[in-house]
Amino acid sequence: MSQTMTSEQKQKTEAKSYKNYIGGRWVESKSGKTFSSTNPAHKDQVLGVMQASNADDVNQAIEAAQKAFPGWRHTPAPARGEICLKAALMLESRKEDLARIMTQEMGKVLKETRGDVQEAIDMGKYAAGFGRQPHGETVPSELRNKLCITERVPLGVIACITPWNFPMAIPSWKIFPAVMAGNAVVFKPASDTPIIATKLVEIFEEAGLPGGVLNLVTGSGADVGDVLVKDPRVAGISFTGSTAAGKHIAEIAGRNLKRLGLELGGKNCIVVLDDADIPLAVDGALWAAFGTSGQRCTAASRLIVDQKVQKDFVDLLQERAAKLKVGDGLQADTDMGPVINEGALKKVHEYTEIGKREHARLVHGGDFAGSDGWFYRPTIFADGRKDMRMAQEEIFGPSTLVMPVSNLDEALDVANSTQYGLSMSIYTNDLRKAFHAIEEMQSGIVYVNAPTIGAEIQLPFGGVKNTGNGHREAGTVALDEFTEWKTIYIDYSGRLQRAQIDTGE
Ligand code: NAD
Repeated sequence: MSQTMTSEQKQKTEAKSYKNYIGGRWVESKSGKTFSSTNPAHKDQVLGVMQASNADDVNQAIEAAQKAFPGWRHTPAPARGEICLKAALMLESRKEDLARIMTQEMGKVLKETRGDVQEAIDMGKYAAGFGRQPHGETVPSELRNKLCITERVPLGVIACITPWNFPMAIPSWKIFPAVMAGNAVVFKPASDTPIIATKLVEIFEEAGLPGGVLNLVTGSGADVGDVLVKDPRVAGISFTGSTAAGKHIAEIAGRNLKRLGLELGGKNCIVVLDDADIPLAVDGALWAAFGTSGQRCTAASRLIVDQKVQKDFVDLLQERAAKLKVGDGLQADTDMGPVINEGALKKVHEYTEIGKREHARLVHGGDFAGSDGWFYRPTIFADGRKDMRMAQEEIFGPSTLVMPVSNLDEALDVANSTQYGLSMSIYTNDLRKAFHAIEEMQSGIVYVNAPTIGAEIQLPFGGVKNTGNGHREAGTVALDEFTEWKTIYIDYSGRLQRAQIDTGE
């Protein structure tokens, strides 16, 4: 071994190598190129060596999915459900190991990565039940001796493209319903979390999912994601990520009239009225702003507070934020882990500089928190205004802006003033104000007296405005993104019956 080898090269040589999963086989990328998955809490630690795939690998994966689709489509839905249930139970039995791998790969603390795996378990169990649920309706006909029914049919090959912040939960929201509906999937996980994605695919394999029904191709958005999106053999795309990437994908999908589900960025807020339980609101704000180091699509990066209680609220929030321990998420006493990578760290700090330039008042944090990993201190700005960049742009890090308002109407105007609409919350003890807010908030999800995070898989998840394109994941509508409706008329009258014409007979 060369003496000039850098420590990263050495670690890469020693790290476990992971492969793509195509057509039921674990294979290397055709180019032989690889990339590293590293630990954001110990930035020089290489966790695994992954396949840096390109168009050739994508092509092979789509071919495998196409080949597997007819057999899987005709597999009875209850049998598909058995496999999904088995996968969910395997996730459950490996929850702790998976949570630890996830904490190492993307940084959030163990209690949160356990929650992430739990969401996948919940989704697997829930989706398995679709196998024995009605798949259509019987609707009365306007004519005699005619049966009208509808049924869901799968689309074909689905591309699932996912981000790193919920690296098991988000893929599971997509893959479980997609395969339950009878589709075949090509899964492209985020390049920051390919190991945990591989673990999920391994479980599907062990649970007995036939080869080709789920294919894993790791690599960059440009070399894998973009190629998948453009391929005419891909019938549907389920994408979660940034609004910029989502718009780019929507243009391509639109040109080809492809089914497309988009779950994109957010600029979520908590409204705190003067009658609210302030310590409860601070509990919620702390969790929503700094949980997952602020890197949740539903993170509260705006705290819209009645000016009469702003001082009490900010003082208590600052006091609580000061006690948060930043560090490696594997340590039991860590409250907040690192951000995902160097680019994210720089971006968060850039917004601190922007906030200062815009004359927001820095109340807490605003700088780096250690050099071993990508750590940033929980950061609170006050005296925010809706025209500030900090109030409009998604920062996706542990940084939040307190914005004073004088009444509920102004609070709602500020809440609705961004391009996004994923999750909003209001803290108040006045029922009428709560209902007014529920009605007026331009948001896919609204919470009352609870923070902006905490979605449960049995309810639809998604946002309005530039957060998405109208689709919802999970809940009773989970199959909508992955199925077409087929409408079937069966005439057993033995004669020609004309709809709208022979109706009186
Ligand atoms: P990102 O858009 O950079 O990447 C998401 C995925 O898309 C990755 O797998 C990436 O490789 C791939 N990708 C990037 N460019 C692509 C392209 N041109 N074609 C095809 N694929 C491409 O987002 P990210 O940084 O991984 O995640 C953070 C973003 O995701 C934030 O904006 C956050 O709000 C959003 N998010 C939204 C939700 C939601 O449900 N609304 C949930 C989680 C995260």
